[in-house]
Amino acid sequence: MEFVSTRGGGEPVSFTEAFARGLAPDGGLYVPRGLPALPQTILVEDALPYAALAWDFLSLFDGDHDSEHLEEIVDRSYGSFSDTMNAPLQQLDDNLFVLELFHGPSLSFKDFGLQLVGSLFEEQVERTGIPINVLGATSGDTGSAAIHGLAGKKGARVFILYPEGRISDLQERQMTCTGADNIFPIPIQGTFDDAQAIVKELLGDLAFKEKLRLSAVNSINVVRVLAQCVYYIHAFTQLPPDNRDDVNFVVPTGNFGNIFAGWMVHQMGLPVDRFVVATNQNDILHRLFTTGEYKPGEVHPSHAPSMDIQIASNFERFLYYHNDEDAKATLAQMETFRKDGSIRIANFDASNFTATRSTDADILKNIRKVKERYNYIVDPHTACGFQDLDPAATHIVLATAHPAKFPAIIEKAIGETPTDPSLESLKGKKQVRHPVEASAAAVRKFLEENAI
Ligand SMILES: *Cc1c(COP(=O)(O)O)cnc(C)c1O
Repeated sequence: MEFVSTRGGGEPVSFTEAFARGLAPDGGLYVPRGLPALPQTILVEDALPYAALAWDFLSLFDGDHDSEHLEEIVDRSYGSFSDTMNAPLQQLDDNLFVLELFHGPSLSFKDFGLQLVGSLFEEQVERTGIPINVLGATSGDTGSAAIHGLAGKKGARVFILYPEGRISDLQERQMTCTGADNIFPIPIQGTFDDAQAIVKELLGDLAFKEKLRLSAVNSINVVRVLAQCVYYIHAFTQLPPDNRDDVNFVVPTGNFGNIFAGWMVHQMGLPVDRFVVATNQNDILHRLFTTGEYKPGEVHPSHAPSMDIQIASNFERFLYYHNDEDAKATLAQMETFRKDGSIRIANFDASNFTATRSTDADILKNIRKVKERYNYIVDPHTACGFQDLDPAATHIVLATAHPAKFPAIIEKAIGETPTDPSLESLKGKKQVRHPVEASAAAVRKFLEENAI
């Protein structure tokens, strides 16, 4: 399978090359050239073990590793989950289900993408003999998932910037208490956007990037999207046969990566009625799916911080397929977006989607409602998925994080605090942090001194 840029520039590249590059040279995002049809054998009644399904699915795209090698990479990625199903489906009601995506090492769905990314980086270092330095910024979950994907791996160092005091204490501990000496968590005084701007500037300096062999870890790597496709199939195959005719996936959404993965498998043949884009008060995507206009506003911090995003980078991939894989049209739209700060999408077809929006008050109310009705505790991001559901249809709500990661908000909603043994054990551990001044020059110097 070849991968091409959504903006049509550069040559088509292989799976491994698209993975290693992250962003395409013309600034576009890599997408598979022509989506393959899902083999119908994958949709058999009994769910396959997760790693076996992931291997089947990824084999459709990875033409580089031989089959046994890919199997080993996939097994390594999905062996460290605390639940043997990896992504178990819980039934709350006749037609209401929760897909638990928080049994990975950092307790959010981002482990599904970043465990595989970690294994592929490791394989790349082994294959090429060239060590790498991974640089990223996080508002919480991406950083801890990336760190858990690479902690202790030889030939890789990881540098993650985060806004001091603006992520939860447990999220910070997940990054700072790994005990691995190849991990460098970097608190800065500023916002997530400040951290992100520094990372962008450093990765944009191609000479520096090459000199330190920097790799990015962010939501635009196509491998993360492919890895996330797998649990949609896994969820479907866990449904009782009676519920398979009108499936709606409800996805707490920020960067549009998770829900795009689901939509992509649907394009490949997974039977899905609708995708529900569940946003918090930062509702650019809600506005898009109700009006056809894509127009970022200001970011307002919410109870669901990993969805506090105004520019949904993966949306460009959706546009590309919405344009029937016409890269020229996509490039023109992205140009307009850059110039005008917004775009109105002509003939916007949102028929596969509906959108909901949750305020902070809705988040608290939904946590309470789910606890009272089903005796089940959802985290604040997942809580957005319980807004305005049609009780007549079958819904699978994606639970994107473990509630124990956000104890203060859960306590506020229902007066109890969920716990998880892996988080409890962090509380007594030593934290290793590398505070650096919030400027590209200071971070550059730190990288020069500490890169491998
Ligand atoms: C990252 C994240 C989201 C948003 O996912 P996108 O792929 O950016 O849409 C939702 N919930 C949690 C817990 C997250 O960490």
